[in-house]
Amino acid sequence: MKKILLSFIVIILISNSLTLHVYGEQILSDIKKKELIEKVDKLLKEGDNVNLRRNVNDVFLLGDIYSEEGEDKKAINLFTEALKVDAWRLEYQLKLAKLLTKNKEVNQAMQIAKIVYELAEEEKLVVEAEELLNNLDKNLLGKLKEKDIKQKKEIEDNIEIIIVPIGDVNKRLLSELREHLEKNIGIKFSFFKKELQSGNFDRSYAVLYVKKIFENITSSLSSYNIEQLLHEVNLKKSDVDIHEGKIKLIKTYFNKIPEGDKILKEFETNLKNLESEGQYDVDRIIGELRNILPIDKKSKIKGYLGITEVDLFGCDSNFLFAGAIENYGVVSYLRFKAIFNGETQNRHRLLERTLKQSLSSTLFILGIPRCITPNCVHGYPNNLYEHDQKSVEMCTQCSDRLNSYIKHNLDVDSVKK
Ligand SMILES: [Zn+2]
Repeated sequence: MKKILLSFIVIILISNSLTLHVYGEQILSDIKKKELIEKVDKLLKEGDNVNLRRNVNDVFLLGDIYSEEGEDKKAINLFTEALKVDAWRLEYQLKLAKLLTKNKEVNQAMQIAKIVYELAEEEKLVVEAEELLNNLDKNLLGKLKEKDIKQKKEIEDNIEIIIVPIGDVNKRLLSELREHLEKNIGIKFSFFKKELQSGNFDRSYAVLYVKKIFENITSSLSSYNIEQLLHEVNLKKSDVDIHEGKIKLIKTYFNKIPEGDKILKEFETNLKNLESEGQYDVDRIIGELRNILPIDKKSKIKGYLGITEVDLFGCDSNFLFAGAIENYGVVSYLRFKAIFNGETQNRHRLLERTLKQSLSSTLFILGIPRCITPNCVHGYPNNLYEHDQKSVEMCTQCSDRLNSYIKHNLDVDSVKK
């Protein structure tokens, strides 16, 4: 009886205080909503941009709430205020553009949709912005697209490279990439009929993490101290060449230093988190491409170029943008994305970075060796900065080599016929 009574009281209490509303992924009670309105009101009245930016998610959230409740004017106002201090939230730019369209503010909506269309890197945002622009002004969209595709060079149809998507990829990026590759190299590029699975990673991020900590520790110790540490855990020098050996030495070291137990705990937590994600071995992927898609010397297909969003590595490297040998290559655009580098989104930059890498990999696929002209697209970049400094163009030498490759292959083909 007591139990039943208690549950009644609980039910009455809950129903009085908590009317829940679902806003997108957020669940808010009336009380919380009231608190949110007061907080946002205060933020906007204060006019302190630094504080507004710090709490900008509250403003966006309240805007979402108004938008779902059909209070368009209020939502438009809040999105606008929030975007004034956090303009790179392109998903909210798009929401604002949609609300403005609905409320017949067409010119302003168009301006905003154009920004999202040109800058957003995520496929979903670009597609939605494109749809909106298409409804608002087909001519403008046409002009935006024209800007990207300049005069087409004649494409040689009898030499072909097949682009193979590996894992979940940004299809829009790949389709733009294909067009630009054709234009820049002057041979045909097509898509393989399906995506290949990326499968399981080959090396977890924990390996890189341990390597870095290990290097930090050993570089701060004398060789005598390292010998002592090794001796204590019964390890030979060669044992720390492998992952487990390094971990053992790191743990022993942390156990010896002041406050080491705290650091050790943090190390173990990080290690555990990093074990669930990882990188893919370029050589393995290329090997798989070769097995699945062998090259027939008589065919006009001269190579396969895998494109993926998974992170790549090869041998002992920390990461690779790509890997390629004759006939086969794979490029990852993961490290070109704004979100990976903490940059603001820029779709043109993402495409250009991916294009440069794909151009260089294609030249390898065609058997054209690495170039030593510093700003040639086929030069070696050691990091993203150097990659960005490269031009998207081939130097004269690479260009000559490509032309003679094309000519040679066409001559051989005509002899065959
Ligand atoms: Zn070159």
